[in-house]
Amino acid sequence: MTDFSMELSEDQLTIQKWVHDFAENVMRPAAHEWDEREETPWPIIEEAAQIGLYGLDFMADAFSDPAGLKMVLALEELAWGDAGICMAIIGSTLAVAGIMGNGTPAQQMEWIPQCFGTPGDLKLGAFGVSEPDAGSDVSSLKTRAVYDAASDEWVLNGTKTWITNGGIANTHVVVASVDPELAGRGQASFVIGEGTKGISMGQKFQKMGIRASHTAEVVLDDCRIPGANLLGGKEKLDERLARAREGKKSGGQAAMKTFESTRPAVGAQAVGIARAAYEYALDYAKERKQFGKAIIENQSISFKLANMKTQIDASRLLVWRAAWMAASGKPFENGEGSMSKLMAGETAVRVTDEAIQILGGYGYVREYPVERWHRDSKIYTIFEGTSEIQQLIIARAISGLHLS
Ligand SMILES: Cc1cc2nc3c(=O)[nH]c(=O)nc-3n(C[C@H](O)[C@H](O)[C@H](O)COP(=O)(O)OP(=O)(O)OC[C@H]3O[C@@H](n4cnc5c(N)ncnc54)[C@H](O)[C@@H]3O)c2cc1C
Repeated sequence: MTDFSMELSEDQLTIQKWVHDFAENVMRPAAHEWDEREETPWPIIEEAAQIGLYGLDFMADAFSDPAGLKMVLALEELAWGDAGICMAIIGSTLAVAGIMGNGTPAQQMEWIPQCFGTPGDLKLGAFGVSEPDAGSDVSSLKTRAVYDAASDEWVLNGTKTWITNGGIANTHVVVASVDPELAGRGQASFVIGEGTKGISMGQKFQKMGIRASHTAEVVLDDCRIPGANLLGGKEKLDERLARAREGKKSGGQAAMKTFESTRPAVGAQAVGIARAAYEYALDYAKERKQFGKAIIENQSISFKLANMKTQIDASRLLVWRAAWMAASGKPFENGEGSMSKLMAGETAVRVTDEAIQILGGYGYVREYPVERWHRDSKIYTIFEGTSEIQQLIIARAISGLHLS
């Protein structure tokens, strides 16, 4: 008798196929247009909402999988369809992860539905940590949150940068410093609801890839929010700050908690892009003839494809393992979440690069999707922790040393 199986369940296969059909029939045909337009693809998000793919029900169903695989299976398919549109559809879940990771059950009930809205009345969420001078080093955030006891409000000031859905979201979750002397341990997460004064969009960025996903600065200028919008509540924050001031161990940084849980999900998207490029290149290599034979008959091409497939499968296995560990409550003692994101992100860049090589000139022009997949892939070695930061996390985990 064995407990171990790599076979997907009926339920997992059903969600995988359902998302794949949407990716193939709705996202793929729209991918080129929205990449060129560099705008949020509202009609596609609406279609996703209509079928229940954008919203609370989908999240709840995906996270109900005890094996933890449904979400990563869905994300691989979405990114296979198109990474930019995928990010436009799932960008709101970054805010949701921030609320889930740090909010009380009552705050989760109140705010998470507001990150999605309903079909016909879509809403977006955004999660803002990064700042112009604080990217990888999230402990050095300058955005300040000051408590005004007289009005029971928090007053936020600062600039967040490169924020997915930044400034266009209805609900923003931001991480700010409450006590700068405590660096990362003096931070907390806050929800800024729709219609709040003092929050505005700064520059909207033009990007190399995932261009259907909106990325912009978020400017906070005396932005006042109710005391109740501090995720986790003031009592818990005060306790945490007191412990940090005494030099005792605390529950960790608010931003890091969110990123830990989302890393396998980011890796799954990178696997999806890599798979798209690999499949395209494999078909092409069988059809394209030069010197009187299919180019795949050259070992230099067939071995490239062999390596591409091997690296994709290895990446997926790391993603599945990390997703399973997270769902089973097993701690990432060796940085397994980071391993999955590191491997999958690097694989996506390498595989899409090789796919361009296999297509030759056809790989380099915009009429074919391969150059877009390469442009899209690069962000997976940068956001939610660069490849170097993933290596640092793994190195610290395996050594037990506070390496830098
Ligand atoms: C399209 C896009 C969407 C994004 N979405 C969001 C979002 O929704 N919310 C959000 O908060 N942020 C978001 N980000 C920001 C993203 O998370 C940061 O860009 C990322 O964390 C890296 O920070 P940085 O760009 O400041 O680079 P830096 O931290 O300045 O790093 C520059 C280089 O130095 C290396 N480096 C830095 N420190 C070390 C070290 N200790 N050891 C070794 N190497 C090191 C890095 O690996 C990198 O190669 C987004 C970014 C982009 C481009």
